[in-house]
Amino acid sequence: MPKKDYYEILGVPRNASEDEIKAAYKRLVKEWHPDKQPEERKKYAEQKFKEIQEAYEVLSDPQKRAMYDKFGYVGEGIPHEYHYTTTGSGFGFEDIFRDFFNDDIFNIFFGDQRTQTRTRTTSRRSPRRGEDIQLDVSVTERDVFTGKVVTLEYERYETCEHCHGEGVEPGSRSVTCSKCHGTGVVREERRTPFGVFINQYTCDVCGGVGTVPGEVCRVCHGIGRVRRKSSVIFDVPAGVDDGQVFRIPRKGNAGLYGGEYGDLYVKIHVQRTSGLRREGDDIIVDAKVDYVTAILGGKITVTLPNGEAVEVEVPSGTQPGDRITVRGKGFPSQRTSRRGNLVVNLNVEIPRKVSKKEKELLEEIARIRGVEF
Ligand SMILES: [Zn+2]
Ligand SMILES: [Zn+2]
Repeated sequence: MPKKDYYEILGVPRNASEDEIKAAYKRLVKEWHPDKQPEERKKYAEQKFKEIQEAYEVLSDPQKRAMYDKFGYVGEGIPHEYHYTTTGSGFGFEDIFRDFFNDDIFNIFFGDQRTQTRTRTTSRRSPRRGEDIQLDVSVTERDVFTGKVVTLEYERYETCEHCHGEGVEPGSRSVTCSKCHGTGVVREERRTPFGVFINQYTCDVCGGVGTVPGEVCRVCHGIGRVRRKSSVIFDVPAGVDDGQVFRIPRKGNAGLYGGEYGDLYVKIHVQRTSGLRREGDDIIVDAKVDYVTAILGGKITVTLPNGEAVEVEVPSGTQPGDRITVRGKGFPSQRTSRRGNLVVNLNVEIPRKVSKKEKELLEEIARIRGVEF
């Protein structure tokens, strides 16, 4: 097994910043995504894709990256004093390394002069749950009052009906895997100053099964699932809040090798157009009140996003910044049948200009109140 240079795989210098690594990863993952490859390149692309994932997993994590930098290359051999020990206080290097890799790649290990080996045989063909999918749904503030039924149309992987998700063309026979010669395990030795390292891993061609299908499914090309248009009717409840996420079970991608479907997550975005604020189920709104209304008392009207006009009583002697709460005129609650409250912040407005007549009257008031002007 040639040693892997994660920096080389991602095409970044050894002193690359986190952002550079991330950018390189994003670009490469797009470029090498197996689903976007022509049939004859798929196998190679899969390999490449895995390598990119593996490299990113290590280099994107400062701790893992530091370890990788220290040991040069991880997974093929580690210095003697770090050997895994089954006695000891729970310091399991294996566990640390398992964190390094996902199950597909972690297999490796270990050995010293006595050539002990450890092998994990997770089969690549063991059932794997499908990925979750997230969709964004935009609703208006008006919809928040009424609720809304939406039809979500999206693409997802569904289990291939032709091969029932097996990836094998029905009726085709299995043949012995040419890489592991049917053993399911690939074994490689490497001599180092620290000892002989036995590198033993589950065969990546047959996934440890020892056989490969003679013929892959001609519909899904061996993947066991196919991309399809899918739709779900989703009931956005009244009172929904911006950023709220709903889970719809089993509406994500089909699993692999008979694994379960993933889930669909629906994230709600409430378009803000009215300028009001929301606190829980309460509506907070700023309203202008004429200074005369503030002094004498009166009424103002607040229009809610659902078109409802709410008349608000302004008591005489209202001070700037006073709040008035109108019960039951907020957003509908998702938990109870009651609505939240409408909270009106009263901003008393002093006119910048007054008419001649108004000025005369104000001067009269000033004299009555003994105010100098
Ligand atoms: Zn094999
Ligand atoms: Zn199929």
